Amino acid sequence: TSRHAGSRAIVTGAASGIGAACVAQLRAEGAEVVGFDMQPGEGITVVDVADETAVIRAVVEAERQLGGAPTVLVCAAGIYPCVPLLEMTGAAWHQTFAVNVSGSMFCAREAVITAKRAGTDLSIVLFSSVGAYRSDWSEPSAAYCATKAAITSLARSMAGEWAPFGVRVNALAPGLIDTPMLRRTADSEAGAAAIRDRIPLGRLGAGEDVARVACFLTSDEAAYMTGSTVTVDGGYLVR
Ligand code: NAD
Repeated sequence: TSRHAGSRAIVTGAASGIGAACVAQLRAEGAEVVGFDMQPGEGITVVDVADETAVIRAVVEAERQLGGAPTVLVCAAGIYPCVPLLEMTGAAWHQTFAVNVSGSMFCAREAVITAKRAGTDLSIVLFSSVGAYRSDWSEPSAAYCATKAAITSLARSMAGEWAPFGVRVNALAPGLIDTPMLRRTADSEAGAAAIRDRIPLGRLGAGEDVARVACFLTSDEAAYMTGSTVTVDGGYLVR
């Protein structure tokens, strides 16, 4: 499909996992894409999304590289620290919110400012998680789950505030997706099998499973969707 022909996209977390899959899928559908990540890589602008000043500069630079204001923003950068609350330091707590929540807000705000100035429409996808709805994971991830619940709320607030400017904002709540983030916590075959048992569709998700939905949400096919959080989890939450 070429439904993203003419789209100009920024994807954060573009060097790995779901973000990298979103870059590939958007390009396959015809979009021009600039990737943001802390890790360097091909076609990646190195930026820490939690650094407000760096984000402001990076979005200006992305507008130049794309040859116009972004029409698509996918905020997939995120961190998943596994620390029990009783061992959680203030610094680790704040860092989780700084990257997952503030990072998404800074990128979205700057993209909207840029699109508004140019008079172009913009569609944003933020990343929540099934962890926003249930926290029975084997890993202690309270801070992460709280940030992902915050994202579903943020998507609704942004949708309302920015609709008058031609901006749509939705969130994706992936289930268990086979990416480096997941493998850092469930790297054994036994761990993977235990995870599969909790998924009605009987397999982990792939980055592409999520990227295809992100491309749909940011396309005109989803023109009447804003403020939603869409689950892409192989049925994980129905159990
Ligand atoms: P990943 O760890 O494979 O990739 C995340 C990328 O974000 C990495 O390239 C990392 O360098 C980058 N990043 C981290 N902190 C950054 C910062 N401060 N500034 C810029 N870049 C930064 O993770 P993934 O599995 O691809 O996850 C993508 C998104 O999907 C995340 O928001 C994650 O919380 C969410 N998610 C993932 C799963 C899963 O099972 N993998 C499930 C639910 C939600």
